Amino acid sequence: MKNNISISQIREVAQEVYEQVKQNTDGKNADYIPFLANINKNLFGINICLTNGEMISIGDTDYTFGIESVSKVHTAILILKQYGREKVLQMIGADATGLPFNSIFAILLENDHPSTPLVNSGAISACSMVEPIGKADEKWEAIVNNITDLCGSAPKLLDELYKSESDTNFNNRSIAWLLKNYNRIYDDPMMSLDLYTRQCSLGVTAKQLSITTATIANKGLNPITKKQVFNADIAPAITSLIATVGFYEHTGDWMYSAGLPAKTGVGGGVMGVLPGVMGISAFAPPLDDAGNSVKAQLAIKGIINKLRLNIFSGEQVNIV
Ligand code: GLN
Repeated sequence: MKNNISISQIREVAQEVYEQVKQNTDGKNADYIPFLANINKNLFGINICLTNGEMISIGDTDYTFGIESVSKVHTAILILKQYGREKVLQMIGADATGLPFNSIFAILLENDHPSTPLVNSGAISACSMVEPIGKADEKWEAIVNNITDLCGSAPKLLDELYKSESDTNFNNRSIAWLLKNYNRIYDDPMMSLDLYTRQCSLGVTAKQLSITTATIANKGLNPITKKQVFNADIAPAITSLIATVGFYEHTGDWMYSAGLPAKTGVGGGVMGVLPGVMGISAFAPPLDDAGNSVKAQLAIKGIINKLRLNIFSGEQVNIV
């Protein structure tokens, strides 16, 4: 079956869903990172970037917010570029943990590898793998350059968020040392943790996140800058990681009801990939109990369902 949709239909549906979801007052801002607790909870934006470069922006799509765990996707792409698919599978893995993003228990359960670069342990391990090993400044430059290529423009470090998170990241410090204990961190643990904390503190917009997922949907070719950011064979690898654990312990529920690989962050951002078609992102600070933005989930799910874009539907999507 073919699903032919036009950009104006997508825009109309996105606007309709935006108006509905805007009224929702459920969830609350992340408060374990003090900076995030104080962000205006009414901010809300939806951005869609098609693989042909056309863009739909509704609401607060230019507001700069903390990228947080969404950055795990960017750095996973960087290590996939530097090491290739097989090595990343061996050194980190690609399994769902079924547990919260910062779970220590998950590390103890699977102590032969950290499971996936999209939870805290695997993401800290991914930062440790970034080349050149042992050189913090150059590693940081590689991380930021890669995020810039994927977003089509540079992210901004939110100093206050970085400080707030560095002052309170005791659980993540334990994770870094546990990884060391199990030989699953490949550079200095505290340096790797600092890189992870700093990348989580980068500010991005919903627009930039939809360009990232549009680049993944477009097999590594950024549809806005036209730069080939990564080789096409990395696209299905990163999309599978996102599909497996993008919503942490709620990933199954999400995939079942939305049918779209998507990654969340406690800053309120969510970005989804519809392979071959588009990247979609939404941003709104209040979160559910697993740390996923309530309004961003409702928005993306609403749009995907209304437009019949569920990747498991077997329908071939054509933008006409
Ligand atoms: N920096 C946050 C942390 O490590 C990111 C968590 C998230 O966005 N789920 O706790």
